[in-house]
Amino acid sequence: MAKHTVVLIPGDGVGPEVAHATRRVIDAAGVDFSWLEMPAGQGALAEFKDTLPECTLAALTQHKIGLKGPVGTPIGEGFKSVNVTLRKKLDLYAAVRPVRNLPHLKTRYENVDLVIFRENTEGLYSGIENEVTPGVVMSMKVATEKACDRIARYAFRYANRRQRKKVTVFHKANIMKLTDGLFLRCARRVWEQEYPNIQYEEMIIDNACMQLVKDPTRFDVLLMENLYGDVISDLCAGMVGGLGVVPGANIGDDCAVFEAVHGTAPDIAGKGLANPLACLMSGVMLLNYLHDTRHDATCKAAADRIKHAYDRVLTEGQTLTRDLGGTAGTAEFTAAILERL
Ligand code: ATP
Repeated sequence: MAKHTVVLIPGDGVGPEVAHATRRVIDAAGVDFSWLEMPAGQGALAEFKDTLPECTLAALTQHKIGLKGPVGTPIGEGFKSVNVTLRKKLDLYAAVRPVRNLPHLKTRYENVDLVIFRENTEGLYSGIENEVTPGVVMSMKVATEKACDRIARYAFRYANRRQRKKVTVFHKANIMKLTDGLFLRCARRVWEQEYPNIQYEEMIIDNACMQLVKDPTRFDVLLMENLYGDVISDLCAGMVGGLGVVPGANIGDDCAVFEAVHGTAPDIAGKGLANPLACLMSGVMLLNYLHDTRHDATCKAAADRIKHAYDRVLTEGQTLTRDLGGTAGTAEFTAAILERL
């Protein structure tokens, strides 16, 4: 029996292309994985009449670790977002998104090295919306002390372990006094009581956007609620080369699902053009997580090998996907990484 069973959800759009490329690279890096491929998204609708079938949720609950491609959610009406439902049902409360410049990838900014912590289970993504009267609709922003407290604690614990210097909380507590006020109070309390060794800063979200584009290097760890985290993740991705290079993890106390920040990229789906790097980097986070939580040294070794391999491909600069200024497709780029492995 394999040491780790990992649930693989290829998803929609470019999802299957990047997820399968990632699986090939991880397999080649020398780990003892058994992959359990499960459906979710538009592709699951025909067979299961559901974008998040029960069997997929059950597999994640049983094996506790997943790698997921993006899944589409129809805009406006219809099914609930698979991502939001998955995060809520499995209580994956911390979205962790490291945003860094990659070797030899020239972008507008240099020396960007941020880690975004996004609360993943409430805020305006609580899904509580109603029509008060025709022509008047409402969306409820929810904040609970429990959720605000645990995401703050998670971010500070991470900062402390990784010798990060500063945590900045983005908020709009001047307007949303109760909800963002609670988020801020919890963060401040965790800092004061548990991590006074780390610098702490609070910044109103609109000013934070301006400060980020002026000089992202003044930031280190960023902590925020759900919606701000969604928007700021894409903004920060744009600083280091776009959505093709930013990985992510959704982590709970019991279970973790790794996925790139990007969506289904319908404009390039099925064309073999997608950059698999964000998904592969999420795979590297998964390997490091298995090392940290299950103490499997082969996972750490595989993570390091994969990282060196894609660093080399980037540094050599000859086989890059279009979003990184090259002409290679998904297959060519993946083959280059496999060769360097
Ligand atoms: P969602 O709302 O599902 O999060 P989004 O609005 O953020 O999605 P994406 O689907 O991520 O949008 O696509 C945004 C842009 O980034 C598109 O032009 C897309 O082609 C590009 N993009 C996204 N992912 C990749 C990738 N892996 N490789 C290359 N380009 C990508």
